[in-house]
Amino acid sequence: MSIHMAEPKENLQMEKIVSLCKRRGFVFQSSEIYGGINGFWDYGPLGAELKRNVKELWWNAIVRRREDVAGLEATIIMSPAIWKASGHVDTFSDPMCSCKACKKLIREDQWWPMMCEQPWVQSLAAIVAPGTNELRGEELLKWAKTKGKSFAPNLALVKNPEVTLSWMAEDVAKGKYPANAEEYYSYLATEQRGVTGLVKPCPHCGGELTEPRPFNLMFKTHTGPIESEENIAYLRPETAQAIFAQFKNVLETSRQKVPFGIGQIGKAFRNEITPRNYTFRSREFEQMELEFFIKPDEAIEAIHGSVATVSEAGHPGEPQPNWGWQAWHQYWVEERVRFYEGIGLSRETLGFHRQTAEELAHYARACVDILFKFPFSKRDENGELKGEELEGIAARSDFDLSQHQRFSGKPMSVFDDELRNAWNKLPKEKQDDLWRRYYENRKRYLEKSGVEAEPAQKQATEDANGLAKGNYIPHVIEPSAGVDRLILALITNAYSETVKTDDKGKNETIYLMKFHPRVAPIKVGVLPLLKNKPDLVKKALEVRDLLRPWMNVYYDDGGSIGKRYARQDEAGTPFCVTIDFDTLGEKTELLDTVTLRYRDDGQQERLKISELRDWLLARIR
Ligand code: ATP
Repeated sequence: MSIHMAEPKENLQMEKIVSLCKRRGFVFQSSEIYGGINGFWDYGPLGAELKRNVKELWWNAIVRRREDVAGLEATIIMSPAIWKASGHVDTFSDPMCSCKACKKLIREDQWWPMMCEQPWVQSLAAIVAPGTNELRGEELLKWAKTKGKSFAPNLALVKNPEVTLSWMAEDVAKGKYPANAEEYYSYLATEQRGVTGLVKPCPHCGGELTEPRPFNLMFKTHTGPIESEENIAYLRPETAQAIFAQFKNVLETSRQKVPFGIGQIGKAFRNEITPRNYTFRSREFEQMELEFFIKPDEAIEAIHGSVATVSEAGHPGEPQPNWGWQAWHQYWVEERVRFYEGIGLSRETLGFHRQTAEELAHYARACVDILFKFPFSKRDENGELKGEELEGIAARSDFDLSQHQRFSGKPMSVFDDELRNAWNKLPKEKQDDLWRRYYENRKRYLEKSGVEAEPAQKQATEDANGLAKGNYIPHVIEPSAGVDRLILALITNAYSETVKTDDKGKNETIYLMKFHPRVAPIKVGVLPLLKNKPDLVKKALEVRDLLRPWMNVYYDDGGSIGKRYARQDEAGTPFCVTIDFDTLGEKTELLDTVTLRYRDDGQQERLKISELRDWLLARIR
């Protein structure tokens, strides 16, 4: 039997990171003075800057620096009809179990990872030696009467050890031993096997868990003063739906043509059953989402004769007019990886998960998750960290706009001049072939969405006739990233510690946050060598004011210069400039120069104040 628990070393690493985040003001527990609120986190002074930088970098890369993407900022509360059309009202749920004893709720797919984190499970794992098929009844009995009593008081083995052990012994005698660690713990949790069958224990108290039930993750509220069914509204669980709902407005006002995208950054809310792993799974979080609308492959084939295929390894290069969904999908996966690399997350720190046919939603063509290897990530069979999802990039066909067209009754199709002209020049067989394929796709979508066969055929015929006249509902590629998960990845990636021994032989731990200069909360520390020398202070304030309009500067005149460097190292400030007597012209050739110190290796060099701004800008943008 093997039980894969997070390595203590890795748990410790996370604990240290959490503690630094609080100590240095990156992340605080929300409502901490009232004991906190589970699944909600606040960003302190450094965290707020880090987050702002990340969002601005995404917005610049995705929206501002591209000709083919426009921005949107929609409301958090929207018409509940949107969530009916998107499927969230009916299907946005996770299977959830509740504990019959302590009433806590547990997401079914997180039961085992949570179990592995519990001290009582870990202490039991020490008794149940991997690979042996012994019952070890006496040891279990002893455990039940000691540790079990305080850690898992509601576990069947603790409440009624003789009964649980007796039927376990029965099974073992028949040669039927728990197949794996998960089943083993179910044995220990089951008191009335004949009545209930094997049950799962609650990770918190060992009590019996109920069968899983779907639990809708949307937060509900009411608009207006009356709390009635008609006034129900939802806090958005994703930002994407607003993009679809405003698709036509943006198209008409931005003078864009398919292919083009709409990007949005904003808050999303999910009533996660078990928020966990620090900020990784929160109930309130932010997303950065792009919906990139493309022509259906049948339209590309009509216009260009064929659809380009690109390799699934590497960046396919500049977008081409004959790209279909597969090339665009590959393009966006690689663009997003480049983005992560550009802010300091190397490919080695990332992982990839291409969803299998079983995992994909019925309308999706492909989905690649970009993962980051957190210390708490799962491991593969070789013991390598697999990583957790930072972003999903999905090829979602024309599902979303089609749903909104059906539910709102407003057309979501676009007219494509190029397609109409090309179609008319196609040989009849080609027209028929494309017509038929488009028809089949539309019919499949409609039938899967619950439309009866006959109306589905009628609608699909209309849609395919529309294609022949240059009309279609655009397909979409959706790169959807979480800001908070990325912040946690950046913090984890930046964290480094070394132990230094001082002159007196005393060990001291030095913390260094190696943020890429682009995301670093503070770009430069400005430090006068001494604070009691008015000339040094005056010059240092001049340097601060020179840089301030361009970047986040931290002026610090408190304590020894070494202490001040260490403070900036912990905040992840990539550069510090010190104004010393040479700056004031003690060595005439060094007049109006400063000492520039690099965070990561402590190297120093001399730079002219007049060149400082551009030197820094070249590195932080
Ligand atoms: P998971 O499987 O981890 O619950 P998901 O696949 O449901 O995530 P999506 O619906 O694809 O997530 O949301 C897109 C992105 O939003 C995710 O990649 C993630 O970065 C972020 N995100 C989703 N849920 C949360 C959450 N509870 N807390 C923080 N970020 C989240």
